[in-house]
This record gives sequence, C-alpha cells and structure tokens, in this order.
Amino acid sequence: MISAKNSTTPGTQQPNDAQLEACPVCWETDSRQAPQTDFCSNQHKACANCVKRLAEQAIQDHSTLPCMICRKPINPEIALQSALKALKSINTCATGLKISDMQSTHWILYARDIDIDQTIELEGQEFTKRDCLVQAAKAMPTHIDAWAELGVSLTEGERVVIRGKSYDKARCFVKASSAARTASA
Ligand SMILES: [Zn+2]
Ligand SMILES: [Zn+2]
Repeated sequence: MISAKNSTTPGTQQPNDAQLEACPVCWETDSRQAPQTDFCSNQHKACANCVKRLAEQAIQDHSTLPCMICRKPINPEIALQSALKALKSINTCATGLKISDMQSTHWILYARDIDIDQTIELEGQEFTKRDCLVQAAKAMPTHIDAWAELGVSLTEGERVVIRGKSYDKARCFVKASSAARTASA
C-alpha cells in the first residue's frame, strides 16, 4: 500500500477537499478561483493570481520577487511559470492575458511548458511550441532565449519567417549570439 499525504508534519492536520489556506496577499481561500502556487523553496504559497501579478511586475522592473512570507528573493520568471501552470491547469484562457498583451517572456514560458508536438489554445487559436517561440522572437527581437530555443526546435532545412525574414536553424543561433553580444555591450 502506498500511503498518500505522508509529507506533512505529524500533528498538523491538513484540510482535505476544501483548500482553506488563505493567500497571504489577497486572502482568497477558494482554490477554484485562485489555485495555490508553490513558488518559494521554503514551501510558502500564494494564490496563482497574486504570484502572476507580482512576478510580472518584478519582471517589468527587472527586480527579484521577495516571498510574501519569508522575503526570500525568488526568480520572477520561475514564479510566473509556476503561476501560469497552476492557472492553466484550470483553463488556459483563465490566465486572463490577451494575446496582444503577451510579452516575449509569456510566450517563452508557454513554449517551455509544452512538447514540440503539443499545442496550447489561446483565444480560440492553437499555438504549437514553435509558434510560441516565433511569437516570443517577434515580440522582442533581441531576446536571446527566444532565438536560441527556436534554433533548437528547428530541424535542418526547416525555416520560420519572422518580420518578413526567413530564418533557418543556423541563422536563429546567429541571432541569439548577436543578441547576447548586444546585451553584454
Ligand atoms: Zn492572492
Ligand atoms: Zn518563503
């Protein structure tokens, strides 16, 4: 027999069905509205909506995201990724992001979340992993990861068209390394 739920400290009875732990930011307790996201390595949680909002803010400000409970600095991209994952497990569309508002980081996180033969659905449109990476490179033409991961996703001979230009695997890597040079200059 495998005993489930053995990981909690003895004596602390965890509520089973109803997730009664309130989000430390907005005090939401309804996990259907806002699933709890594990984002801090000290097992601290907040609701995915709050994690997403604060992580996006931190990415925009180029700052780290302090844990809402222990203030430990967290990589906002990783926090955003787990928030999007939690929200997507309810419904992809529940992230509330319009395609037109999505930044390169969002596209990359979506791309990393699916395999090459999987798709995600946004506003009724299907996007493959590669489509997401193309969107990331379009949204920010100097994004190193977008070009590098696009290069990895292309097989020899395959091409993608971005902003009217055609790129094969090798040219994607050239774009990634020139973006890296620009970033370090
Ligand atoms: Zn919250
Ligand atoms: Zn913490």
